[in-house]
Amino acid sequence: MARLSDLTESTAVEGAISEFRRLGRGDFLDRYGFGESRDYFILDGGDLIDSKPVVAAALALQHPAAQRLGPDDFTGGISGAVRVLRSLGFTVVTRAQVKPPLRGARYRDRAAVRAAFGGDMMAGPIRFPGEDIVNLFSDASGPYADESPSLTETFGYRGQGQVGDQRVDYRANRLIEEARTSGTPARFWHRPKGGEFTFECWVVVENRVWVEGVGTDGQERLEIDWRLTPVPSTDPQEWPEPARLARTVTPLTREEVAGAAEVSPSPTYGELVRRLADLERTTEPQTVSRIAYQRQYAARRAVLIRSAGQCESERCTGMPAELNRKGMPILDVDHIVELSQGGADHPLNMVALCPNCHAAKTRGQHAKRWEKELRRIAQAAHDRSRLDVTEGSAV
Ligand SMILES: [Zn+2]
Repeated sequence: MARLSDLTESTAVEGAISEFRRLGRGDFLDRYGFGESRDYFILDGGDLIDSKPVVAAALALQHPAAQRLGPDDFTGGISGAVRVLRSLGFTVVTRAQVKPPLRGARYRDRAAVRAAFGGDMMAGPIRFPGEDIVNLFSDASGPYADESPSLTETFGYRGQGQVGDQRVDYRANRLIEEARTSGTPARFWHRPKGGEFTFECWVVVENRVWVEGVGTDGQERLEIDWRLTPVPSTDPQEWPEPARLARTVTPLTREEVAGAAEVSPSPTYGELVRRLADLERTTEPQTVSRIAYQRQYAARRAVLIRSAGQCESERCTGMPAELNRKGMPILDVDHIVELSQGGADHPLNMVALCPNCHAAKTRGQHAKRWEKELRRIAQAAHDRSRLDVTEGSAV
């Protein structure tokens, strides 16, 4: 069987290209037993010609006696067929290099994007083969509470990773971090619920900050909030000043952010309760996942504010001596009546409990008594906290 390195004559490649043109793509691929190339093509007279099958055909021309190579016998990428073709003087390109997506380009889903530009099928941000540009995908039906893309102002894009503190060195986040440190603009794709992915705008990854969030397991954690600034083009001369300065911005470390209240302005209990009421009234279908997330987050945060760092149970025998990793009191926010039992995701049905009281409430012998007491406690604390704020803000 011939090997890749046995392909040494550019005339053999030219012969294979001629055969491709004579037979047509379908018959040519059938003849050599290859599928359509996804990533790399020979650019020949303005046409894209599948690179890997041409290499197999060229080897068969140069070494007619040798057994033909099939798709699984050699690699087609940069280190394989592409390298050999380039060394013989041929121009090998990707679809994104020849015809990159323009603003407004639409694709039904990620599979359609992949069919158009190649690359691996993977979740999160991706690079198309042959490009340094990162493509950021924001899906209104997805698990993240991404802000609506803005064409004029900096907006947030949540990091990748659904459980536990997010990590900058996680593969998908590393891609975005590279875009931030290099200053290379990224394509921002957005898909409204039930719609298509649209290349909305170019963005510069200006900064990243750590924010408190809730993982898909319901646990509090730190999330990366990438700050994206829309720019009119890939030309830095056309960028607004802050985007040009982006590369000099040093992001806060998680240590600096953990426990620091000024990261996002601290809402009061009353404000969070009002926000919950607003969210209840909002029924636009395309923001359902975002609303569910915000509701969960606002409710938990409100209860933690209401508790003032102390277990809300009247039976409490004392808080743990240690603080948590964010330097905050160790408190569990518990639903008095579980969501699965029809309990509401609202501070009136939630209490902050120390681990001991939480265990007693959920696993102890007096579950009914706990439930009754905690309902009364939550109601009283709710009335008290809301009153404080109403008086203060009624001016
Ligand atoms: Zn307690």
